Amino acid sequence: MQTLSELFENTLKDIYFAENAISEALPKASRAVKSADLKKALDHHLEETKGQIETLKKVFKTINVKPMGEKCDATEGLLKETDGVIGESKGVALDAGVLAACQAVEHYEIARYGSLREWAKVLGNEEAHVLLSEILDQEKAANNVLTNLAVSKINH
Ligand code: FE
Ligand code: FE
Ligand code: ZN
Ligand code: FE
Repeated sequence: MQTLSELFENTLKDIYFAENAISEALPKASRAVKSADLKKALDHHLEETKGQIETLKKVFKTINVKPMGEKCDATEGLLKETDGVIGESKGVALDAGVLAACQAVEHYEIARYGSLREWAKVLGNEEAHVLLSEILDQEKAANNVLTNLAVSKINH
């Protein structure tokens, strides 16, 4: 990897892998938690995530690359941690723990989309810049929903 466009393509494959892994993991997290509000938030984000996968396919198209994932070790690790919380926790700790684990995933996504959309801009790919910015806004909103739920309800 030498150029920014190669870095962009590689990171796009990383986040494409991540979104697919997240869409497979969210149903289990939703089933595990007790709070109806938290379930609703996770189910809503699952639907958004499926849409994000479709949006990423459009981003691949802007660079004439076939949509393809490349293993993201960070997401695999974060989802493994989420699984660990589900397996090891009960009661208040379960919901608060799963919520926190999901926020770690959102933070990873926010970091990745923030870089990707700025790289798209520098590369003159305005279409990708706009598409990636849309996803970034969804990830930030999802993170805010989780923060508000934690502070107002789940942590008590
Ligand atoms: Fe996402
Ligand atoms: Fe990654
Ligand atoms: Zn812009
Ligand atoms: Fe997300």
